[in-house]
Amino acid sequence: KYHNELVQLRGNIRVFCRVRPRIREDGDEEGDLVVTPDIDDDSLLKVNNTKGRDQQYDLDKVFGLSSTQAQIFEEVSSLVRSAIDGYNVCIFAYGQTGSGKTYTMEGVSDDPGINQRALQLLFEETSDASWTYDISAGVMEIYNESIRDLLNPDPANKLEVKMKSEGGFHVPGLMTLSVSSLHEVNQVFETGRRNRATASTNMNEHSSRSHCLLCVTVRGTNPTTGSTSVGRLNLVDLAGSERLSKSQAGGARLKEAQNINRSLACLGDVIHALRNKNSHVPYRNSKLTYLLQDSLGGDSKTLMIVQVSPVEKNVCETLCSLAFAQRVR
Ligand code: ADP
Ligand code: MG
Repeated sequence: KYHNELVQLRGNIRVFCRVRPRIREDGDEEGDLVVTPDIDDDSLLKVNNTKGRDQQYDLDKVFGLSSTQAQIFEEVSSLVRSAIDGYNVCIFAYGQTGSGKTYTMEGVSDDPGINQRALQLLFEETSDASWTYDISAGVMEIYNESIRDLLNPDPANKLEVKMKSEGGFHVPGLMTLSVSSLHEVNQVFETGRRNRATASTNMNEHSSRSHCLLCVTVRGTNPTTGSTSVGRLNLVDLAGSERLSKSQAGGARLKEAQNINRSLACLGDVIHALRNKNSHVPYRNSKLTYLLQDSLGGDSKTLMIVQVSPVEKNVCETLCSLAFAQRVR
């Protein structure tokens, strides 16, 4: 119906890379940048590895240090539109803590990221259509392999993924709110953020160790024919992909790190299996992939945005993140 031809042509899984600019936390203002997008080909990225050699990566698209939120969204908007047509879509931000995942998904107040722009586009595109639409949103977090409803954070509210009798998966009891304006959406985001923060003593650490999911459902009805459609848009700010050295962590912290590594690796395995059309796709190996099962594979569309830092001190994690990108591409 809309702009899906291009997406279909390129397959259902795409992998972008975004290089964040240098920030104050990087220290050393003069140090060389080790990550360089190709000037002529916007799908190539060079990384000067630890041995001082250039390593080249081929992605669906590379966004350089000066890329804007609007440029990213331009490449994402056709995926967002396809949720109106009844497709299930996942957009993930992957990368080490501090690489710009939250900047890309949530953005900052005067320059919003994908989440807010996506809802704005959904409202625009559904407002004067011949179909009528209901858009609803839920916000959840997966921490240590357990799901928390960020709109209704009662700890007694234990959420699990269940199979529906009519097929498909859902999370019974998850709160979803119908939204019809950007103002309402921002209230939903704000509630989610507040609930996420109040449950943790250190918000930054906590958010780097949990996956945050914004799940948008677009229900359409054609008032004349009675036809209906349901599309889902899952916007996921993943936990930090950095590895912990054994000496850094013990006990609870180590278990946390193992859960994160396992669920990110499992996400990679699932996308890799889908990419290769394997007969077995290991959705059940993590909460995240189990939960998103309906939105990964089949005719769903997946976009992985791999975020990297441009500076030398992060080069090992950058190489790991790009290895992940190559594996799923
Ligand atoms: P992550 O969520 O991966 O831990 P953040 O999104 O919090 O990383 O980014 C880390 C810091 O870098 C933040 O201060 C953020 O504002 C800044 N930053 C990240 N990407 C960009 C960008 N493209 N432009 C400007 N600042 C950015
Ligand atoms: Mg973050």
